[in-house]
Amino acid sequence: MGVLVGGYYLAGSESREFEVTPWEVRGKVDYLRLAREFGVQLIDDNVVNTLRDLAGDVHYLIRRGYFYAHRGLDAILQRQRSGAKWALYNGRGPSADLHIGHLVPWILSKWFVDTFHVDYFFELTDDEKFLVKEGYTLEQTNRYAYENALDLIALGFTPDKLHIIVDTEDIKYLYKIAVKVGKKLTLSTIKHTFGFTDSTNVGAAFFPTLEISVAFLPTELYGEEVPVLIPTAIDQDPYFRLARDVAEDLGYPKPSTIYSKFMPGLTGEDKMSASNPDSAIYVTDDDKTIRRKIMNALTGGQPTAELQRKYGGDPDNCVVYKYHLLFQDSDVKVKEIYENCRAGKLLCGECKAMLFERISAFMKEHRERRERAKDNLEQYRISVKFK
Ligand code: SF4
Repeated sequence: MGVLVGGYYLAGSESREFEVTPWEVRGKVDYLRLAREFGVQLIDDNVVNTLRDLAGDVHYLIRRGYFYAHRGLDAILQRQRSGAKWALYNGRGPSADLHIGHLVPWILSKWFVDTFHVDYFFELTDDEKFLVKEGYTLEQTNRYAYENALDLIALGFTPDKLHIIVDTEDIKYLYKIAVKVGKKLTLSTIKHTFGFTDSTNVGAAFFPTLEISVAFLPTELYGEEVPVLIPTAIDQDPYFRLARDVAEDLGYPKPSTIYSKFMPGLTGEDKMSASNPDSAIYVTDDDKTIRRKIMNALTGGQPTAELQRKYGGDPDNCVVYKYHLLFQDSDVKVKEIYENCRAGKLLCGECKAMLFERISAFMKEHRERRERAKDNLEQYRISVKFK
């Protein structure tokens, strides 16, 4: 059995099969087991069907099981059915190494915004990166916040719906809530949940109150109950478990979450890793680099073309196929790749070339939109919309 030790999830702790924390993922993740141990619910047919009823369709990232678990998503869907207000929230610890896996939850957020016309609050935690990671100055993390904001805006959000919070600059929106949250959380809870020790700096220990505060911000801003839905990777669950624990005591609605798996590394890791640049495609990579990384990716193919034609490949254990699932929105094309691979009609080189075409087209549009976003970033700042 997995156990929680100092906030660290140690599945099969003796064999240390995998570890998941908000800052690190190691080993081969068993997602069903992780969901069970975290106590989150799986996204089942009921949830998918309710979402389809309300939205007319379900985004492929949910249909294909990349977003696979949740806390309280049904409560948000119930609000949507009854016409009650809700909002979206997620964010990022800004850094220079933004990769395309980081964009994926934001792509789902875009679908929620477009489908349900909800407001989207996005927190850039330039303070967190400075406090928790070694080697960053506050000036650096603040500069990265602006860089990462451009990548978010480039996905096509409009300023009337997207409200960007930069922690070190927009603290007035969060501080009163953070103080109330802080009073409800003991040091022992924070240490246990995040694996902090007596030598952790007190800034890092206070920081979770800020990430939790944004979950309650829409309720304060609108002066009525406005719960949030948070699309994020499952390693962020500890923050929002605490947020749900303190919400009602503070008179706020509990936040709901929808959790994704991790974007696999091209070189076979369960999560793209900054320590292995070839495992990830960064938004700053040029086409030549993207092509090289994709062409070197680990596949589920046979060792030779001849064997591939004879026995077919194994798309279920292929990183390239997983990327097709995440970046190819046509179900027909994905099915074709799967079946042709199994039947030996598709060779890995051709399949990788198709993936490169897809990602290269996505990145070309992304770069153009990102460039245009530089002229109007200010319009997205929360301070422009909420005084
Ligand atoms: Fe993977 Fe594509 Fe090769 Fe099949 S053909 S194993 S999906 S790279």
